[in-house]
Amino acid sequence: RREGADSDAAHRREQGIHMGQHIQIQNFIDGAMVPPCNGNYMDNIEPATGRVYGQVPDSDAHDIGAAVTAAQRAFPAWSATPVEQRARLLERVADLLESRLEAFAKAESRDQGKPVALAKMVDIPRAVSNFRYFAGAIRHHEESATHMDGKALNYTVRKPVGVAGLISPWNLPLYLLTWKIAPALATGNTCVAKPSEMTSMTAWLLAEVLQEAGIPPGVCNLVFGTGPKAGAALVGHPEVPLISFTGGTETARRIIRDSADGFKKLSLELGGKNAYIVYADADLDQCLPTTLRAAFTNQGEVCLCGSRLFVERPIYERFLERFTPMVEAMVVGDPTQPETNMGALISQAHLKKVRGYIALAREEGGTVHCGGTRPDLPSHLDGGYYLRPTIVTGLTPTCRVMQEEIFGPVVTITPFDSEEEVIAFANGTRYGLSATIWTRDVSRAHRTAHAMDAGIIWVNTWMLRDLRTPFGGMKASGVGREGGAHSIDFYTESQNVCIQF
Ligand code: NAD
Repeated sequence: RREGADSDAAHRREQGIHMGQHIQIQNFIDGAMVPPCNGNYMDNIEPATGRVYGQVPDSDAHDIGAAVTAAQRAFPAWSATPVEQRARLLERVADLLESRLEAFAKAESRDQGKPVALAKMVDIPRAVSNFRYFAGAIRHHEESATHMDGKALNYTVRKPVGVAGLISPWNLPLYLLTWKIAPALATGNTCVAKPSEMTSMTAWLLAEVLQEAGIPPGVCNLVFGTGPKAGAALVGHPEVPLISFTGGTETARRIIRDSADGFKKLSLELGGKNAYIVYADADLDQCLPTTLRAAFTNQGEVCLCGSRLFVERPIYERFLERFTPMVEAMVVGDPTQPETNMGALISQAHLKKVRGYIALAREEGGTVHCGGTRPDLPSHLDGGYYLRPTIVTGLTPTCRVMQEEIFGPVVTITPFDSEEEVIAFANGTRYGLSATIWTRDVSRAHRTAHAMDAGIIWVNTWMLRDLRTPFGGMKASGVGREGGAHSIDFYTESQNVCIQF
């Protein structure tokens, strides 16, 4: 009966989010929804309209402390729970999430500004896969033992680290949060997660799913609040030995410094300025629609977006001629409408920053080839943070607009003359997250991929992901890898035992 009552309450809450009710989010600590200790809340703003539609806790070190204590208390029992049982619970989370896909997608769109259709197709299904995948991965994870020349038995086990601290950004809210929660719990850790203060809604809805699925109290705690207060308190907490962070490169520097005293295990998934290389022999019919996605999916607010397009000179003009009308035809506007290709940017401040880069592009000698302006929209969207997809041409690869992460719907297109030249352009930033290569020449595809200083390379595709494979960046784009066995390694410590016969 309790389960039925819980799901009725969850259903009413989900309905409320879509009906425009004022929603006050609470922290989720020790299996219960609780207000922040200090009683303070921040406004939650809907990017599509710029209107306040609820409140998010402005938690501080006290809430983090309470959550860490709950997670510590829950750790012995959860880490001793048989793998099969843990896996089944995570699968139940996946099933419940999937059964509410529609509601979660609408909530994610309202909170983040992305089109509902995108959240339905990508964000929420990926959150479901995160739980389902790690439930399977932990079942199949095997450890082996070796005999040392008949003298000894040598084996290695992997043990959960304890309370994992998980910090996620606003661009793919539930997708990235669950990419951390699922492997942390599958490997027997308990956790305290702090989602971005700008997009707390689906994490809060997830709390209800965790309750309903039967995840024991204290195993997964969610504390809402800002980075400098709640996030820093989590990073600095002495009883949190591991931090998995996805976010900006500058924030990561701070986290490295703040966690140094505690010798914490860190995984850092950071920014990108990804090269997207189109050789003259590329199959443009395949390449162009993919390029449109790579440049502007989620308003260009994806760390993996191809933001620096390099096109080989013989096809440069033809590429622009065909690509420009596709970009101009994109429908920008109301995220709830099925025909919308691009919704609203996350905030007024972010829109201002992105527009600042468009102005800088002009100062640096570039041309705004298309976009750069606000679209004409109906009056109910007047307060929203919209920008037409923008192409900038005529810049040199060393200028700021081609070096700094814009994280919005702005791409640069630059011609190149040789393989050597484009490799130098591609590698010539401090980032090294991903790169994309379009060519029909297999040798050149391998050569270019091999030459890239980037953690993820796509050839003749973009954003095709296999959760078993390592994910992460080089240089200022990150430290460490997650995904498949890499996640299991990260969320555990290995321990070697050698027994002489
Ligand atoms: P951000 O660094 O501002 O914030 C990320 C998270 O860190 C938020 O939850 C924030 O509250 C928290 N935080 C901020 N200051 C903190 C501190 N001092 N201590 C602890 N936590 C703190 O990033 P953002 O603006 O939310 O996200 C955009 C960035 O994330 C972009 O740079 C983007 O490229 C990057 N990103 C990377 C990946 C990846 O997988 N590599 C994926 C998505 C986004």
